Amino acid sequence: MQFFRQSLRSLLLTELVAGMIVTLRQLFKPAVTINYPYEKGPLGPRFRGEHALRRYPNGEERCIACKLCEAICPAQAILIEAEPRSDGSRRATRYDIDMTKCIYCGLCEEACPVDAIVEGPNFEFAAETREELFYNKEKLLANGDRWEHQISANLKTDAPYR
Ligand code: SF4
Ligand code: SF4
Repeated sequence: MQFFRQSLRSLLLTELVAGMIVTLRQLFKPAVTINYPYEKGPLGPRFRGEHALRRYPNGEERCIACKLCEAICPAQAILIEAEPRSDGSRRATRYDIDMTKCIYCGLCEEACPVDAIVEGPNFEFAAETREELFYNKEKLLANGDRWEHQISANLKTDAPYR
């Protein structure tokens, strides 16, 4: 009986027809794919992308070189050196992140008392060499300047839940 049923199914191509019906049904539904990189999907405000060091609106660096981010980093990817300025304020003279070690856990951002180091919305920073992924303070500050608008909007959106 089973042999008869299988033969009939093969003869009538029922599985093929069922597959074609699924294909036809999808043809008339809106596309779920996007034309990357010309189109990009939405990102949540907590997206953890490329790191950036932020400034205050007057241009002053936010980082006070407390080294909490360096201490909490589980990958030991952050290296900070600091010295007091002539006005007595403490600022980082060196802030390096080895992005090849980073696991994008976000703990540095969580630990920072002044929202200086953040993981911004940029995910397009692939590089051809390892050296390009050794970020220094200038690179991180430039990232902050470039993405500040979106970073501050994301922090504002997320603030009620922190
Ligand atoms: S995201 Fe995590 S692993 Fe990467 S630098 Fe920050 S604390 Fe370290
Ligand atoms: S980025 Fe934040 S946590 Fe890290 S040293 Fe600067 S102020 Fe401290």
